[in-house]
Amino acid sequence: MNLIIMGAPGSGKGTQAALICKKHELPHVSTGDLLRKNIADGTELGKKAKAFMDAGKLVPDELVLALLKDRIEKSDCKNGFLLDGFPRTKAQADALGKIVEIDIALNLDTDLNKLADRMASRRVCLKCGYSTSAELAPDGKCKECGEPLVIRDDDKREVVENRLKVYAENTAPLVEYYKAAGVLKNIDGMQSIEAVNAEIEAILK
Ligand code: AMP
Repeated sequence: MNLIIMGAPGSGKGTQAALICKKHELPHVSTGDLLRKNIADGTELGKKAKAFMDAGKLVPDELVLALLKDRIEKSDCKNGFLLDGFPRTKAQADALGKIVEIDIALNLDTDLNKLADRMASRRVCLKCGYSTSAELAPDGKCKECGEPLVIRDDDKREVVENRLKVYAENTAPLVEYYKAAGVLKNIDGMQSIEAVNAEIEAILK
């Protein structure tokens, strides 16, 4: 099963992706997590990507594509994977289509006006990619690996607005792209985590 999970920043993609991957034993391929790992490790790619990410802009296609190809060629992706945060542009979607076939593109439908608040309370683990909210993690520790949770640099209010604009301009059109390809499944992403997950599981069955 080759899956994509799409949705605006703050729509809950990362949270749902983690649940799906755990249940179906699929590798969770998040380009955002891979980029943040490169930044934390101080790689050349991380250095190039950081300025774009901190400004809420997209990292250039060629950098992200190389990263993605490298990841999905690993043996654990042989029988399927879930892409989270990729593709984000039509050029990325075209390039992806040349490497693999996508079976289902899950789209979390959300009200863009309500996402800035969700992102303000988001807390993430830079070690394992776990994502939660400040309210759900009052001790500030990752539930998966115990590392301290942090606020992402690009979740600051001034950057969030730009990310939502970039999403609307570059990524939202991919909903039509995958609809035309006959693989799109829309889900109401404004429900609780459990209700969204139940809708997704009904589709994956
Ligand atoms: P995410 O964790 O998916 O919200 O991604 C965080 C940031 O990483 C984005 O705002 C972009 O700057 C960058 N990024 C992640 N995935 C991509 C991608 N597929 N194309 C371009 N930039 C990306």
